[in-house]
Amino acid sequence: MVKLAEVILVPCPPMGHVAQMVELAKLLIHRNHQLSITILIMKLPDYIDVVSGSFVDTVAASSTSNRLRFVYLPDADPTPEWSSKARVHFFYRLLQSQESHIRDFLVNQRGPMAGFIVDMLCAHPLIDLAEELGIPSYVFFTSPATFLGLMLHFQVLEDECHVDVPEFIRNSDRLLSFPCFVNPLPPTVLSTNFVDRDMWLISGFLEFARGYRKAKGIIINTFDELEMHALDACNNLSKSGRVPLIYPVGPIMNQSKSSRPEVEAEITGWLDHQPPCSVVLLCFGSQGSLPVEQVKEIALALEKSGCRFLWSLRRPPEDSNTQFPREYTSYSEILPEGFLKRTEKKGKIVGWVPQLKVLSHEAIGGFVSHCGWNSILESIWFGVPIATWPLHSEQQGNAFQLVKEIGNAVEITLDYCERRRSRGDQPIITAQAIEKGIRELMKTNTQVRDKAKEMKQKSRASVMEGGSSYLSFEKLIHKLLQNVNQIICQGFVGKEDVLN
Ligand code: UDP
Repeated sequence: MVKLAEVILVPCPPMGHVAQMVELAKLLIHRNHQLSITILIMKLPDYIDVVSGSFVDTVAASSTSNRLRFVYLPDADPTPEWSSKARVHFFYRLLQSQESHIRDFLVNQRGPMAGFIVDMLCAHPLIDLAEELGIPSYVFFTSPATFLGLMLHFQVLEDECHVDVPEFIRNSDRLLSFPCFVNPLPPTVLSTNFVDRDMWLISGFLEFARGYRKAKGIIINTFDELEMHALDACNNLSKSGRVPLIYPVGPIMNQSKSSRPEVEAEITGWLDHQPPCSVVLLCFGSQGSLPVEQVKEIALALEKSGCRFLWSLRRPPEDSNTQFPREYTSYSEILPEGFLKRTEKKGKIVGWVPQLKVLSHEAIGGFVSHCGWNSILESIWFGVPIATWPLHSEQQGNAFQLVKEIGNAVEITLDYCERRRSRGDQPIITAQAIEKGIRELMKTNTQVRDKAKEMKQKSRASVMEGGSSYLSFEKLIHKLLQNVNQIICQGFVGKEDVLN
């Protein structure tokens, strides 16, 4: 009898993370019939975010495979302290509160365990937990290899060279070189996760990076042809034994069916009536919203550019530290007077947009994006060039990478930062700068558009049989199955559990 080898997955709750993990799970069971997957779900309370929770419920309810199951961890009981810092701090506290439940779940597993795969933001304390229980652990890195390279670099600076990383970056006034980037970086594009002392030291980023080194492997949602230089830098560390093996397996994208098919039908219906390559999409991710003052500048820019547009516009939450954006009940209050009427033939404003579906539509000619990694991979997959407008997390570095290294994007801004803006030391982006970016983005026959097309072909080739990510995934599965045999040899499970 063939026994299944169990793989346990722990995603971080926001939409961009959990959707990637679900796709990773689907891919694992699709590529190997001996693997059975359990995804442990930590739900965010509704007052923080409803989108990611309803996404998981829909996916879990529609899952038809008996080798993929979703286990909901108990509801958390957040204290006000969880919401006192940046959003990532809330996730960190949430995970800490769930550690004992995850431990119980792992301890009570009966079958052979092939691996424990944890989201990049769950590496601490879960990698240590796995080590203690003798379970082979892997990190699922949902950001680019450039960001992985930076995290590992700064962890060495802190731990081995005793550099105060936030202080070092804040005091840097010239370009900085890193092995994972071809070009030197302005310190302003470095993530607040390194610059903000709380995020680096208290909410886990330094600890996450320490955890990565202890894992058995780092599975990363990217592909060789996209991030050759950064992956080489990480692989060099791996060869010297300083970090585990890196498995680039991307692009992995959220293919789940929309939970709101009527909204999807309305939007695609509108796009069907637009000429090919004529519409610019504006969307700032699951956590992105802009203040009214900035929204007005975008509206002015769109109107002046004369370009057709589809704009995902959502309301900033009351507590911008932790809560996610919500839908507006009326757009007219925040937009310039008469804007909706004047642009009704050219544009459409919506709330949550079915982004992957929209990007696949031939009417879309460009994407003003916050440069979240999922959004980048999705636009690459469909060959849509980007205009960069990062907001938080590692997005400033991603924007720099797209414009200065990959070449499939034009710049609106590279170093906008929501946190700096909320402290009042970040100027708003003017309508002129936005209009210039949109005009540049929507030009035909540009090098940027050619590059976007080239990367589209490369991304598709990488996941086809024999492609770089396909082969890397094969290595990962081989390793997971080997883990089971090793556990058997070490006597952790009985002979009756032997595979095949
Ligand atoms: N997304 C979407 N509609 C929206 C906003 C986001 O479908 O209105 C999806 C998007 O396609 C992507 C994910 O949510 O898959 C956002 O992930 P990303 O890494 O780009 O940004 P994050 O939300 O993590 O900042």
